[in-house]
Amino acid sequence: MTGGARAVDGAELVSRDPRDGRELGRYPRHAPAEVAAAVTAARRAASWWSGLGHSGRRRRLDAWRRVLVRRVPELVRLISAETGKTTADAQLEAMLVADHLHWAAAHARRVLRPRRVPSGLLMYNHTATVEHHPLGVVGVIGPWNYPAFIPIGPIAHALAAGNTVVFKPSEHTPGVGAWLADTLAEAVDGPRVLEPVFGTGETGAALCSSGVDKVAFTGSTATGRKVMAACAEHLTPVLLECGGKDALLVDRDADLAAAAEAAVWGGLSNAGQTCVGVERVYVHEAVAEEFTARVVEGAAALRTGTGPDADIGPMTTPEQPGLVREHVRDALARGGRALLGAPEPGEGAPHDPASPGGSALLPPVVLTDVPEDARAMREETFGPVLVVNRVASMEEAVERANGCAYGLGAAVYSRRAGPRLARRLRAGMVSVNSVLAFTGVPALPFGGTGASGFGRVHGPEGMREFTRVQSVTRQRVRPLLQPLSFRRGPRTMGVLLRLIRTVRG
Ligand code: NDP
Repeated sequence: MTGGARAVDGAELVSRDPRDGRELGRYPRHAPAEVAAAVTAARRAASWWSGLGHSGRRRRLDAWRRVLVRRVPELVRLISAETGKTTADAQLEAMLVADHLHWAAAHARRVLRPRRVPSGLLMYNHTATVEHHPLGVVGVIGPWNYPAFIPIGPIAHALAAGNTVVFKPSEHTPGVGAWLADTLAEAVDGPRVLEPVFGTGETGAALCSSGVDKVAFTGSTATGRKVMAACAEHLTPVLLECGGKDALLVDRDADLAAAAEAAVWGGLSNAGQTCVGVERVYVHEAVAEEFTARVVEGAAALRTGTGPDADIGPMTTPEQPGLVREHVRDALARGGRALLGAPEPGEGAPHDPASPGGSALLPPVVLTDVPEDARAMREETFGPVLVVNRVASMEEAVERANGCAYGLGAAVYSRRAGPRLARRLRAGMVSVNSVLAFTGVPALPFGGTGASGFGRVHGPEGMREFTRVQSVTRQRVRPLLQPLSFRRGPRTMGVLLRLIRTVRG
């Protein structure tokens, strides 16, 4: 078990299966000139694509979706091979891809239709309309953890809104990126409207500086900062979907069996490599013992491995296991206790993810009593590690959940106070009595606040991100009094001032 090997071999990108290190494919590493050529090609295609109108684009995006759905088994195998994720996790990802693509194609016309707004007192003789037009070419930069589902949000919405896209997949998952672009080209006649570019961070940086009309970035907060700085150079607008440290709150009246099951799945599925995965749990002390016992029982029953019966696959990238072990070590050194999967100081344990030199397969770890200043409470761990801390009240739970730089997703289990607690959380999305449910609702905007970034993908707000807003007034009749002319006299201005005083005073 090696984990994903280094993805670069000279001028080529090598895609490998993290389960066994097997080479899956080789891709070029595109230099800035090639990125620029891809943007130029996408720009040429953009006028054709936007000229198709909503119905023409919808027909073609629906055709793409049908190809995707027909070839889901192939997509699932490819996602699993490049990320190491289990078949069930890859199947869920493929289903989300199909549903979100459907929503974008089906709703673009309604979301983007011109909207009449009141014309106000002074411009009563005009109609006023808000219109949304395509930006042109959108650069999409994607991560490796959901290599199809995450980029399909900005890709589908940008395309449905009439833009073309240049897409830079993660260096660890170029095959999924190529597959998405190839299936679209197969389904849609005419020039390519989704151009992939391959490479490492340098290729992503070149895309940011290429003069695209917007960059939609999903990845870590550290890289998000670099992307924003690069985009600032050309004043390229940017949408940042960055990391998270999502909290799950468990109230004393919660359905504990359901909450524990959700904590285990939300924290450990996809080997914990989910931006909106549960990383911190705050449970009311009145039910903490029972809840924690259920979590430990649920997590202990999971099989870690590479076979078809595994619940947790390997870490995708070679760097990730070391970072996860660091977080566990730091939490234990600061007084945290391991309830599962890591030894108490001085003790041995059958599975020891805190041991150096371990493999890319990390069995689940459940920690408790971890102080808030530990790395596992402040930084994204992105591994199969759940911290369950008890709190004296839900007041304290909200305070601790919000006391973190990230603000991506969150969840609340409570029979009576769910929506009320949800509203108080500083998070872009909250699921009540479930985890991650917001991810599966295509009409809900997805995104965070604080260190988790800004802007939205999915839903109407996500689609409008890929448009330029144009405000239009149209004069219907000549005004009785015209203030927008040098011919206005003191009488005109006097009457209008009296009008304003009377109506707005
Ligand atoms: P990274 O930040 O390492 O990389 C993201 C993408 O940016 C990759 O394609 C990467 O290329 C590229 N990149 C790297 N450097 C630059 C640069 N200087 N300029 C432009 N692009 C660059 O993230 P990961 O791929 O490791 O993904 C995991 C992270 O993504 C986690 O933090 C996770 O929380 C976050 N994420 C956030 C989501 C959200 O919706 N908020 C959803 C999913 C993940 P390369 O891979 O070649 O280095």
